[in-house]
Amino acid sequence: MFIRSNTSILALAAAATLGSAISAYADGELNLYSSRHYDTDERLYSDFTDATGIAINRIEGNADELIARMSAEGGNSPVDVFLTVDTVRITRAKELGLLQSVDSALLEQKIPAYLQDADNQWFAFSQRARILFYDKTDVANPPATYQDLAKPEYAGMVCIRSSSNVYTQNITAALTAHLGEDAVQDWASAVVGNFARDPQGGDTDQLRGIASGECDIAMSNTYYFARALRKGDKSMSAEDLANIGWVFPNQNELGAHMNISGGGVAVNAPNRENAVKFLEYLASERAQQYFSAGNDEYPAVPGVGLSASVATLGIFRPDALPLSEIADNIEPAVRILSEAGWE
Ligand code: FE
Repeated sequence: MFIRSNTSILALAAAATLGSAISAYADGELNLYSSRHYDTDERLYSDFTDATGIAINRIEGNADELIARMSAEGGNSPVDVFLTVDTVRITRAKELGLLQSVDSALLEQKIPAYLQDADNQWFAFSQRARILFYDKTDVANPPATYQDLAKPEYAGMVCIRSSSNVYTQNITAALTAHLGEDAVQDWASAVVGNFARDPQGGDTDQLRGIASGECDIAMSNTYYFARALRKGDKSMSAEDLANIGWVFPNQNELGAHMNISGGGVAVNAPNRENAVKFLEYLASERAQQYFSAGNDEYPAVPGVGLSASVATLGIFRPDALPLSEIADNIEPAVRILSEAGWE
């Protein structure tokens, strides 16, 4: 268990909102662009400021908007650190030349190789698995793999997000990397044939679909379910939650599909030293525990304890596919989903 105390408002006072400008270099400051959208992250930032005296000026926004903003700002960009969720976005920031390599013995030692960019331009600080959930009262034989979602026995049972959602694109891209385009095209068409309803809503809405009886099987990131267990949910009773079972898919081969939240130092970071300090702080035991206790994610650093809600889900075999291969297969994945008529 982790002890929580009131969030310091120091960093909050310095936080900026999207659309406002922040000045570039200032001693003892760090300019952060973040697309993480979790209230609990306040604690991550205020602890860093408390420990180092470095104030964080934060601009939050949609990842694509922040990437566009960094591109437009070019050499005048005040941003020191870009933090985001999703492999594809952080990879795109690198490909656009928006990040720089960081040579940190500490990050090298703490963050496993598969959770870092090969050129050290970004590092993952937390992980989430995209797994299957099911109605224990209705489904006697839940799917054991992502491929199983295509089986005729699950006709009319599957709830899943739309093809415009990056999570859907990522899992399809990962399967494409593993199985090839033809096999995944067949899979996607069959899964569409098994939909319980047109794709709609966010991850928690897929879980709520099980609770309401509309869905028998659903796909969601682990942290949404762990959060519902920890905090409850306005549309799901304790009994509803108790009736939701989960499956870490593909445990005999491939492993469960993983995604990350990560960050890197901006190519023109005015406060480069502070930026590296901040990334190193995100790999600290304390920061890693916030990712787990605050947002129900899996820490990136091995050996960091899981919060109670995350530990409830249990241990599993993750897919070891290099994250860059997911990014490389997004294009065919989007085409496959479209051809399958996946809304
Ligand atoms: Fe999410």
